[in-house]
Amino acid sequence: MLIDQFGRKVTYLRVSVTERCNFRCRYCMAEKPFSWVPKENLLSYEELFAFIKIAIDSGITKIRLTGGEPTTRENLDELIAMIHTYSPQTDIGLTTNGFLLPAIAAKLQQAGLKRINVSLDSLDPDIARYIAQKEILEQVLRGIDAALNVGLKVKINSVILKNINEHEIVQLFEFARSHGAQIRYIEYMENSFAHNGIKGLTSQEILDVLKNHIDFAPIPKEEGGPANLYETHDGYRFGTIEPHRHDFCSTCDRLRLTAEGDLIGCLYFEGSKSIKEAIRHENILKAKEILEEVILNKPEKNLWGSEEFSISNRAFYETGG
Ligand code: SAM
Ligand code: SF4
Repeated sequence: MLIDQFGRKVTYLRVSVTERCNFRCRYCMAEKPFSWVPKENLLSYEELFAFIKIAIDSGITKIRLTGGEPTTRENLDELIAMIHTYSPQTDIGLTTNGFLLPAIAAKLQQAGLKRINVSLDSLDPDIARYIAQKEILEQVLRGIDAALNVGLKVKINSVILKNINEHEIVQLFEFARSHGAQIRYIEYMENSFAHNGIKGLTSQEILDVLKNHIDFAPIPKEEGGPANLYETHDGYRFGTIEPHRHDFCSTCDRLRLTAEGDLIGCLYFEGSKSIKEAIRHENILKAKEILEEVILNKPEKNLWGSEEFSISNRAFYETGG
């Protein structure tokens, strides 16, 4: 079992399979990075899997593949199949912008994927294009349909931004509800890779808008889950993710691995430790030692709630969000 120095049990590993992305969301990768990590510096699927096996054997029960855009890395289904074959009970999820799902949703499901989170910030093609800096909406919506059609459980992630998509809170809610998908409104996390001037709505502001639309009440959080959950009178559940809250990190159960093999204890901080050499030398003991060290040094909390240091210099497209 993996437990950090604050007594938090770490059971969830987010694995970024690439930092590259086919979108340029203004709140994440507003501009193409100066250079991409050369492909040979990335861990191969076999290398990622070698570490994932160690993590599962140490107590990780949930794995989420993310990026950048994870579906832009070829044959993602192969990595899913490796994990699923090794440990069928491990809960494997994927976070994606949905653009490539029409072509690959069935393959991913057949490989063992059960759950998928699709980022959808607008139902207006012009606003979706403005945020992602690309014509995306029609294909993303087809991607969501493709995922539902092959039986994947879908959640929708929405980041609500002032003066951009804040008038769509209710429409996004109703879209998700009508598709049987839980929507989670993620508060914008300030970072130095976002477009200047981007401002997010707080969860309270989002909930205030929803209150004028529908009745709902808070329900307990899922164990280790980041979202505060709410339920409407007819049983529809939705959530808010509030990294600015003082107690957000107290139940954090997660660890992140970048595509280059850096193991990260907290989304906010730049500290990391590489497992690449250990994995490339098939030194399982060393990789496990690094895993335990990163967990031991997992920071107590992020600084998004703090006045002085609220902007992170960590790119979301590297850490996978
Ligand atoms: N490309 C995939 C996607 O967009 O879903 C996976 C990677 S993305 C970094 C993972 C999640 O992080 C997405 O739901 C995205 O909306 C969220 N995200 C990215 N930048 C963010 C920011 N500055 N604040 C809050 N959420 C952010
Ligand atoms: Fe790409 Fe996802 Fe970041 Fe948008 S949020 S730029 S889709 S990695």
